[in-house]
Amino acid sequence: MNKGKKLYEGKAKIIYSTNDKYLVVQHFKDDATAFNNLKKTKVEGKGVLNNRISECILTNLEQCGIKTHFVKRLNMREQLIKRVDIIPIEFIVRNIASGSLTKRLGISDGTVLEKPLLEYCLKNDELQDPLISKEHIFNFDWATKSEIEEIDKITLRINDILVGLFRGIGIKLVDFKIEYGKAWNKNENEILLADEISPDTCRLWDIKTEKKLDKDRFRKDLGNIIEGYQEVARRLGIMPEISNIKEINFNKSSSIKFKKK
Ligand code: UDP
Repeated sequence: MNKGKKLYEGKAKIIYSTNDKYLVVQHFKDDATAFNNLKKTKVEGKGVLNNRISECILTNLEQCGIKTHFVKRLNMREQLIKRVDIIPIEFIVRNIASGSLTKRLGISDGTVLEKPLLEYCLKNDELQDPLISKEHIFNFDWATKSEIEEIDKITLRINDILVGLFRGIGIKLVDFKIEYGKAWNKNENEILLADEISPDTCRLWDIKTEKKLDKDRFRKDLGNIIEGYQEVARRLGIMPEISNIKEINFNKSSSIKFKKK
């Protein structure tokens, strides 16, 4: 498999073509952005961690029967994925109120929701990914009724699986964002979970202390961003070389080395 030309560069990832028209390479950058690109920085090692964490989560989901774009990890920063046409909608699931929901509706941060809340946002940076309804989706043909029905079911199933997976490692899954793509498979369009699932796209709180282990460390200037991501990786068991470290000291910056694949 040969890596070809750059097809697309986003805020945190780059997509490259390959010599197989059905496959592309997804490269994870260290760039962190928030508030519609107004806040930007480089977090050294973030791309490496997100590559490993997303691989772990998508592999777990595959094992539970969720179809994803993930094929295999190629190296520290890259994974081979199926080429898809991304549906231009961000699917957000919330279990606990935080972030934009609290600002928009005045719900207190940390309120446990009676059942998971599913929201749709249009993927459009210029418009700052506005919240949309199903009526908007159908009216403007961003997805069909049957696609959204299928995606809603898969999304709630993913939430169930991930809530359990994170609870098992002492983490509350507060909310997350996922994206889907359409791939051509045996004469029909197949819907695949795409993009990434990582501390960039989830809110993850330690069960006991409610310490944030996700991108809110960057959004809210809490410091020790990489330590939060490393803690998630360590608890997921994907950094075996540091699995004997009992607790990461959030007051000191640590540098943890990864084994080459
Ligand atoms: N999210 C994301 N990308 C986006 C918008 C949101 O990954 O472009 C994630 C975010 O990390 C959080 C969840 O979706 O886990 C809900 O985000 P929210 O709507 O609260 O927006 P934010 O507070 O990030 O502006």
